[in-house]
Amino acid sequence: MSVDKNGLIRDIRLPFGLSDGEAVFEALKKEGLPPSTHAFVLRRSLDARRKEITEVFTVALSDIYSEFCYDFSKPCGREKKVLVVGFGPSGLFAAYLLAEYGFCPTVAERGKPVDERVKDVELFWKTGVLDPESNVQFGEGGAGTFSDGKLTTRINDERCRFVLNTFHRFGADRSILSAAKPHIGTDVLRSVVRSMRNRILSLGGEILYNTKLTDFSVENGRLKEVYLNGEPRSFDAVILASGNGAGDTYDLLMKKPLLIENKPFSVGFRAEFLQSDINIAAYGKNASDDRLPPADFSFFTHLKEGTVYTFCMCPGGYVVNSSSDEGRLVTNGMSYSGRDGKNANAAFLATVTAKSPLQALEIRRKIEAAAFSLHKGKAPATLIKNFLDGSVPSSFGHVLPTFQPGVELDGFEGIFPEKTLSMLQRGIAEFGKRFFYDPQGVLTAPETRTSAPMRIVRDSAFQAVGASGLYPCGEGAGYAGGIMSSAVDGLKVAEEIIGLNREKL
Ligand SMILES: Cc1cc2nc3c(=O)[nH]c(=O)nc-3n(C[C@H](O)[C@H](O)[C@H](O)COP(=O)(O)OP(=O)(O)OC[C@H]3O[C@@H](n4cnc5c(N)ncnc54)[C@H](O)[C@@H]3O)c2cc1C
Repeated sequence: MSVDKNGLIRDIRLPFGLSDGEAVFEALKKEGLPPSTHAFVLRRSLDARRKEITEVFTVALSDIYSEFCYDFSKPCGREKKVLVVGFGPSGLFAAYLLAEYGFCPTVAERGKPVDERVKDVELFWKTGVLDPESNVQFGEGGAGTFSDGKLTTRINDERCRFVLNTFHRFGADRSILSAAKPHIGTDVLRSVVRSMRNRILSLGGEILYNTKLTDFSVENGRLKEVYLNGEPRSFDAVILASGNGAGDTYDLLMKKPLLIENKPFSVGFRAEFLQSDINIAAYGKNASDDRLPPADFSFFTHLKEGTVYTFCMCPGGYVVNSSSDEGRLVTNGMSYSGRDGKNANAAFLATVTAKSPLQALEIRRKIEAAAFSLHKGKAPATLIKNFLDGSVPSSFGHVLPTFQPGVELDGFEGIFPEKTLSMLQRGIAEFGKRFFYDPQGVLTAPETRTSAPMRIVRDSAFQAVGASGLYPCGEGAGYAGGIMSSAVDGLKVAEEIIGLNREKL
């Protein structure tokens, strides 16, 4: 252990439960530095696998450590008219950065403001009556709003820190700044989205709700006009941050002279277990220590046909109906900030490679439609034991499904392609061997929207190949997967439009 050139003291293992201040004190002491040295906890991660629970800290010395930030004191916009299509994490962060730099962006979001949207979603979960423009996928905050609000990511980009700081500045708890697995929860995320929107408005931005990009024209390789709810408008730059849920927007894009390429995607189901069982599997004898957070897990296995893996594990969470199209069914998972639900859930997914973007979209739609039609919108659900032996269960055991407006016991017949079904069966069996097997664990199908089924190719200036002036962005365009990476992609695209020279940031 020693201070590195970035001003970091890493790998300080201390007993569980110390405050940030105590951890800084211990780190400075071990380093032989005076206790008055300005320092803070950059990261803390829990290790509850050993007999004695510990936390591993990274402490940053304030005078040496410098983190990525923008200089908002130098506004450079106004004359450029920028449209942001979609107000999910990628559109939100793009619009926010543009607004801070004085660009007054216009945002077109097909759904409603977050508070109205919450009411529509709650009604849908209760009654099954879907509003195709205001649901878990569409509306202010995007798909991320009704989520677990996990901010973990596999990307290693310095902008991640800026995203965390921004979430904190607009209302998220300070703990997300240092947690190894930061988590906001759907309840807090909604108010953060509201506050960020108010900031964008206060800086002169404009947000058009219930406003859909319905068409656009391209002339001589350049974007000419966009049509919002059928009305033509002109902008200097258009950020397309429409997410991966909008099938009709994909249909529109596929008709245009853009370069759209194949991208592997994944389909599967949500698995639910008792959180108390997951705690025992992960923490062993320490599971009864109620200071510990509800445990999580992640798993993958490579098969010869592809990979089966878990995704978006939600400790103390709920399986939610995330459909956005009439006659199609989609599941996902979310949790509240307290993560205090009885069940834990995670997506179990198998990779799929289609021959073309169109075929990928068709596979996804076919699975969603098959699942919907089985029980008129109630989700098909089975138990792990039955899924493995191919039978249909007659009742649930100790794990009760949380999906609303309800599930019907089923055998998943006719929902997934045979190959996918077989991959999922082997994957879940392997998970049982390696981590945890509960024959009464509940599987609810289908999960189809965890990744974009195609990529809209862009050039080195982030503009669509075939339509300059159009900036495909975020998860829907195939450049992100999750809240954090979508937000980071939104920042990158906005930087390009603003003209920020990365060297000078
Ligand atoms: C229930 C649920 C839970 C999730 N949990 C997590 C999690 O815990 N952690 C995590 O990292 N990720 C999670 N995700 C995934 C995450 O939400 C997405 O990766 C992320 O929201 C993608 O951001 P985006 O901005 O690219 O697109 P989106 O969030 O999908 O936003 C796109 C927006 O564009 C709008 N739109 C679409 N078409 C048009 C159009 N033609 N005109 C105008 N507007 C349009 C939509 O209404 C939507 O608001 C979850 C997703 C769901 C559904």
